[in-house]
Amino acid sequence: MDFTPSARVQSLLEPVQKLVREQLLPLEPLLLAHQYSELMVEIDKVRRVVKQQGLWAPHLPASVGGMGLSLLEFAQLSQCLGYSPLGHLAFGCQAPDAGNAELLLHAGSDAQKDRYLQPLALGEIRSCFAMTERHLAGSNPTLMESRAELDGEHWLINAHKWFTTAAQGAEFAIVMAKTDADAPKHKQASMFLVPMDTQGVSRVRNISVMGSSGHGPFSHAEMKFEQVRVPKTALIGERGQGFALAQSRLGPGRIHHCMRWLGLAERALHQTRDYLSRRMVSAELSLAQQPVAQAMLARAWAQYESARWLVLHTAWQVDQQNFTDAKAAISMIKFQTAQMLQQVVDMAVQLHGGLGVTDDTVLAFIYREERAARIYDGPDEVHQLSAAKQLIRQGMA
Ligand SMILES: Cc1cc2nc3c(=O)[nH]c(=O)nc-3n(C[C@H](O)[C@H](O)[C@H](O)COP(=O)(O)OP(=O)(O)OC[C@H]3O[C@@H](n4cnc5c(N)ncnc54)[C@H](O)[C@@H]3O)c2cc1C
Repeated sequence: MDFTPSARVQSLLEPVQKLVREQLLPLEPLLLAHQYSELMVEIDKVRRVVKQQGLWAPHLPASVGGMGLSLLEFAQLSQCLGYSPLGHLAFGCQAPDAGNAELLLHAGSDAQKDRYLQPLALGEIRSCFAMTERHLAGSNPTLMESRAELDGEHWLINAHKWFTTAAQGAEFAIVMAKTDADAPKHKQASMFLVPMDTQGVSRVRNISVMGSSGHGPFSHAEMKFEQVRVPKTALIGERGQGFALAQSRLGPGRIHHCMRWLGLAERALHQTRDYLSRRMVSAELSLAQQPVAQAMLARAWAQYESARWLVLHTAWQVDQQNFTDAKAAISMIKFQTAQMLQQVVDMAVQLHGGLGVTDDTVLAFIYREERAARIYDGPDEVHQLSAAKQLIRQGMA
């Protein structure tokens, strides 16, 4: 196998890198200062340039306005975008919209595609995904208490969700609820497309996470769906297909996250390397000349490189086979890359000293924001169990 970027990716890397470094890095202080309205105005300007240059939505097919890259090609580009926490948002491939667009593309009805997929893919509207509930273990969503019942030509939905990322300002939510509580466990739930202005939908609050309630795409909400009435056509895919669709949505989503984390880790490493050379710890010596600091940097860099090859290999494996056959590999990169990011950023913060915990650099933001990488889309432990089960099964086959 050969992970040399294809000619197409090679031609894309330079303009993408230029936009990220020249236009997005200067906007990061707005993010760090929680100046979200000003930030979104500037992001919209960058988005226009991205579209003009034909770099929009690299993960989506050309039929819906994307670039139609393979997963491996997107992996290589996505790392470049991940160099800034604003990269994916500016290029139209941020969670949860990226996963929701892929879901509608593969399982949405023609009407859902016309009304919601097209504007979502073009970045004209945003969306959110509401599965996790406050009082039940999100690691095992089959415990879910949310319900949807047929009432004539409508579904009546009752659900209390939380950690619905980017709900504030979203046009619609994809809501998971049980439709057949007596069916076999994995066929009990279904997915619904619920416009956010439907009567009975309320955003209770943006949850304060690591000291910030965020805003818009940078927020996580507690949501209530009380006697929410949607037409039968709001069902996505088939009745009882909810968990299967959630898995098909999360498969690519997990790989997308890993690629983004690689970009963030690379940023932390570059920033630390440069800082070590600048920071004098005595009249003659910089930190870069201290063996302990050198060893810390080298260890972190090796962790990053190992995770990078594992992620590229997994993306390649999915392109060659499919998500089901690559399930163990996807679980392994999910926990391995999330842990790598945490360790690399911790090293970077440590070697920046007091500066590392301030908001004068992006490191503290990444440290706070991405602690959750080891929890969302499945905690480390759950992926370790899942990978182990697959590996043991393969050994017995
Ligand atoms: C920043 C962020 C964004 C999110 N965005 C969304 C979103 O947009 N939509 C959405 O629906 N949800 C979202 N979530 C929810 C996320 O998917 C859940 O937090 C996750 O599935 C874990 O569920 P839980 O928090 O209920 O933890 P629990 O299931 O209660 O687990 C708690 C801890 O127990 C351990 N654990 C769990 N199961 C096992 C096991 N079988 N064996 C060993 N240890 C175990 C793990 O360490 C786990 O972290 C988000 C979460 C975060 C933090």
